Amino acid sequence: MPLVTMRQLLDEAAKGGYGVGAFNVNNMEQIQAIMEAAKETNSPVIIQASRGARQYAQDRYLYHLMLAAAELYPEIPIAMHQDHGNSFETCKSAIELGFTSVMMDGSLKADGKTPTDFEENVEVTRRVVDYAHERGVTVEGEIGVLGGIEDGHGAGGTGLEHVTDPDQAVEFAERTGVDALAIAIGTSHGAYKFSKKPDGSVLKMELLIEIHKRLPKTHLVMHGSSSVPKDLQAIVNQYGGHLKETWGVPVEEIQLGIRNGVRKINVDTDNRLAITGAIRKVFAETPEKFDPRDYLKPARDAMKKLVSERMTQFGQAGHAGDYTQKSVADMAKGYRDGSLSTQPLVVGR
Ligand SMILES: [Zn+2]
Repeated sequence: MPLVTMRQLLDEAAKGGYGVGAFNVNNMEQIQAIMEAAKETNSPVIIQASRGARQYAQDRYLYHLMLAAAELYPEIPIAMHQDHGNSFETCKSAIELGFTSVMMDGSLKADGKTPTDFEENVEVTRRVVDYAHERGVTVEGEIGVLGGIEDGHGAGGTGLEHVTDPDQAVEFAERTGVDALAIAIGTSHGAYKFSKKPDGSVLKMELLIEIHKRLPKTHLVMHGSSSVPKDLQAIVNQYGGHLKETWGVPVEEIQLGIRNGVRKINVDTDNRLAITGAIRKVFAETPEKFDPRDYLKPARDAMKKLVSERMTQFGQAGHAGDYTQKSVADMAKGYRDGSLSTQPLVVGR
């Protein structure tokens, strides 16, 4: 079963009115956890790998693990996505490797830390779109800058320093032709997003709603959208961890986003917490154990449980079998003949 493009997967999500979780992976157990959750809930899947993940696992291992997933679960559409590409070259190498979707995060310079200016972002993103669409591959861009740091990538600071300007979002989407757009509405990467349960003063859902109204054809993406549940924090701390008290993005806010054009929701921290809590528990309760399977299996189960819960909450559950997968060649044709254009002026409303 070939991998599906993220564009097709998100177009279907828009038709069905649901969101799709994009879960980060670094190793076999995480991929297995996602696929078992997808099978249990009958969900389409976005698996994403950051630059850090590609370095950690090595490209070939990662790619073949994903192919193994596609082979073992032919009934599940799987999109393989490069998370936070920092340059044209990173995106190009992902496409050459066989990823069906890339994020060009042109909101930051190639160092992954310094915010760019608008024109720089448009230019590098447009270049990636031209290259990717010719090959039928999906592109996600980012306008505005998220807070925090993810895998060494990020501007740091709070999520409110560079929130997305709706006028810029519209101009950016029109000039680049991205399929999906990550916007900054106050969220941050990592575990420490908010110091209390977020309200409208720190989580700008009204901004998201406005951008969707003006860009109805562009799929919106929420980054930094782990919910950082209290029970997962508690397990980590109960078994010797030291997490400071923190709040993530409540699931009901994500669901409000999904009702307003959010089709992709990035979740990583929650899975990291679930895995770490499960491993700490085994170490604390049975210190005599030393077979890695004794703690990796509960870790995998804990991640599967979390992913399965999110798939249900985002609404993707039950939708794996809704459509026949299009190949990248089909998608390339759609970009060429204009039928996949996201430009409001071309396709109208
Ligand atoms: Zn991100």
